Amino acid sequence: VACPFCGGAFTTASGVSHHLETSSCPSARNLNRDALYKALRARDQHGLITKKLLQSKELDTIDTYATFRTWNGYAYECYLCHRDFHSLRALNQHLNSPAHQQKYYHCPNKRGCGKDFVTLAALFNHLESESCGFMRFENVNKSANEFLTGKKMITF
Ligand SMILES: [Zn+2]
Ligand SMILES: [Zn+2]
Ligand SMILES: [Zn+2]
Repeated sequence: VACPFCGGAFTTASGVSHHLETSSCPSARNLNRDALYKALRARDQHGLITKKLLQSKELDTIDTYATFRTWNGYAYECYLCHRDFHSLRALNQHLNSPAHQQKYYHCPNKRGCGKDFVTLAALFNHLESESCGFMRFENVNKSANEFLTGKKMITF
């Protein structure tokens, strides 16, 4: 599976996804988990793998760090779950923890599996393991190539 931006070769679809989601691609530094989700979401009209979760406006703010404005008079309050924290640092840690990592993807296997994933890499990893029997390993790579590189709609 080739990276559509830098041309780097990866043996798995999850490998190239991880490369893109962690902003490791030298040719697509501005790409990250959120940006990739947004790009794929636009090409996944039927919601085969992407979950319809948030407005893009909310997506843009989810990674912003908590500021002193979160002070509610006696504690720093998480604006997502309304838990109180005694320091701004603790609140920031909480916001960047898996507690608030949105699950952007789900397994396309509608019959039975129903698993959710935080990253595209995790979804591909699941498909590559063939654990739910949705598709064969070779086909995962082929599909990944098609929808990561082209402007095509996502299909399987
Ligand atoms: Zn790359
Ligand atoms: Zn929270
Ligand atoms: Zn599955």
